Amino acid sequence: MACTAKDVAAALRTAAEKVAEHRVELVELDRAIGDGDHGENLHRGFTAVVSTLDQAVPETPGAVLKLAATTLISKVGGAAGPLYGTAFLRAATALGDRATMDGAGVAEALRAAVDGVRARGKAEVGDATMIDALEPAAKAAADSARDGDDVAVVLTSAAAAADGGAQSTVDMVARKGRASYLGERGVGHLDPGARSSALLLRAFAEAAR
Ligand code: ADP
Ligand code: MG
Ligand code: MG
Repeated sequence: MACTAKDVAAALRTAAEKVAEHRVELVELDRAIGDGDHGENLHRGFTAVVSTLDQAVPETPGAVLKLAATTLISKVGGAAGPLYGTAFLRAATALGDRATMDGAGVAEALRAAVDGVRARGKAEVGDATMIDALEPAAKAAADSARDGDDVAVVLTSAAAAADGGAQSTVDMVARKGRASYLGERGVGHLDPGARSSALLLRAFAEAAR
């Protein structure tokens, strides 16, 4: 089934719950190789997204994603705020004013989101950032959509690929963000942003089922 603005809002609520559940884990991952605020930053941002949606849900999936983007940009801060803000904004722009989003629409939105993060942060696969989770997720989503899969299956494929991609950051030397200051000492740690990206996609997949 294609999803509506209400479904996208529900998915963002599920994402906020997921972030709340994993807040401490994300803080601890960031404490090991950064400044320890990633879980708090995202929790603050997604709490604000939920409050905004409590007031009114915009009429199209794109408009809901755009509202999430502006809220995240103003509330998250740090490196991740502008990056996630860009991701949601690019996804919103890709969807335009269409009333619903099917599996192909999800793949398209995710591709636009990931390209936006890459353009903004200049990280590539292998730099130990959220891109290591997001890029394989966008590829998996495209493959799944090409097979004609629906929203839930496309998002489940993306989430599985993001999990694998996030895990791969453990063996990497970070080349972007705070973790890059550690050089080789950062090896052996899961990147917090890669982990949060995988969690967000998992939440969206759960919401779509
Ligand atoms: P800060 O480092 O400013 O405290 P956060 O802790 O909220 O910001 O977010 C850190 C995460 O942001 C990292 O784990 C990484 O995944 C991501 N990140 C940092 N810089 C970049 C970049 N240039 N491109 C992509 N992702 C990045
Ligand atoms: Mg941090
Ligand atoms: Mg910080």
